[in-house]
Amino acid sequence: MSLLDIITARIRGDGPISIADYMADCLLHPTYGYYVTRDPLGAAGDFTTAPEISQMFGELIGLSLAQAWMDQGCPAPFTLAELGPGRGTLMQDALRAASKVPGFATALRLVLVEASPVLRQAQAKRLASYAPTWIESVADLPEAPLFLIANEFYDALPLRQFHRAEEGWRECRVGLKGDELTLGLAGAAAQPALDHRLEDTKPGDIVEFSPAATSVTETIASRIAAHGGAALIVDYGDWHSLGDTVQALKDHEPRPILHRPGEADLTAHVDFETIALAARAEGCAHSRLAPQGVFLERLGITQRAEALARGAGDKALSEITAAHRRLTHPAEMGNLFKVMGLFPVTAPPPPGLTV
Ligand code: SAH
Repeated sequence: MSLLDIITARIRGDGPISIADYMADCLLHPTYGYYVTRDPLGAAGDFTTAPEISQMFGELIGLSLAQAWMDQGCPAPFTLAELGPGRGTLMQDALRAASKVPGFATALRLVLVEASPVLRQAQAKRLASYAPTWIESVADLPEAPLFLIANEFYDALPLRQFHRAEEGWRECRVGLKGDELTLGLAGAAAQPALDHRLEDTKPGDIVEFSPAATSVTETIASRIAAHGGAALIVDYGDWHSLGDTVQALKDHEPRPILHRPGEADLTAHVDFETIALAARAEGCAHSRLAPQGVFLERLGITQRAEALARGAGDKALSEITAAHRRLTHPAEMGNLFKVMGLFPVTAPPPPGLTV
């Protein structure tokens, strides 16, 4: 039995499925899902993320959240949460830096939202001294001030893809041609969730929309609006999604998304307007979208790199220089990745972001 067999049987029984249903099976099927069965990160895995490139990333995020916590009067206790913490590297770096802020470490309750048992183990090892609790879903976040980070989490949330036609939107679905998985378009229909995209698109355009991104954001934003806090959401994408951005990655190389389901990472660009609209609907403010490079420069990544470089050997020095470039340069991660902050309407945005 393979995930391909399971998906094929499902389509035979029920008909074609949305990209969202396909993605959910590929990534999180309880037995065969990509994240359920492995640690995908790093050089030996399928992709590398910012915190795995350098400690500077997590440190600066931690300090930005700690300053936001101080700006809001140091509420205690508060929830420090991460969505999809991977190996726990980002949180470890963030906590090392933020714990220097008096009172922060004793006031925080660390909560990790993680679907993968393999990655939960890695997180448990790294973060044991902070006694984290794990939850399956943001719905289980405590009713308390919430300071939260999500790096490369939203890109893994299942999304639906729609092709604009003259008479409405046609949803892209995964079906079968003989025994092979194939992509096809459903008939045209109205999609009220895409009404706000009628102005900036024309027939022939492709738009992606993640209902999960909306519901995750609504939950976070409602906690922040009710109890205070801040969220930093970092991911690749832009204000508006446009075009087909669903991609599969295996061994750091792209591959067709229908090839061997469950064996490759499957992601899409994040549509930050979805996040902004969901936050506003809950009475929560959001920052402007900042390119990752600009955000990190505003937080002082160059000074941090210089400090690390002092006393470093030649090899470490060139690694620090390379990491700084990779995280900030527009031709590397600096421009493709964006940062959006969520915060109460009565509070300033977390440092590094503007309104
Ligand atoms: N933030 C980490 C890892 C990014 S990979 C880093 O920057 O290195 C995506 C992470 O999100 C993984 O930890 C994965 O297991 C988790 N994840 C993906 N979809 C999820 C979901 N629906 N619920 C909970 N965790 C999820």
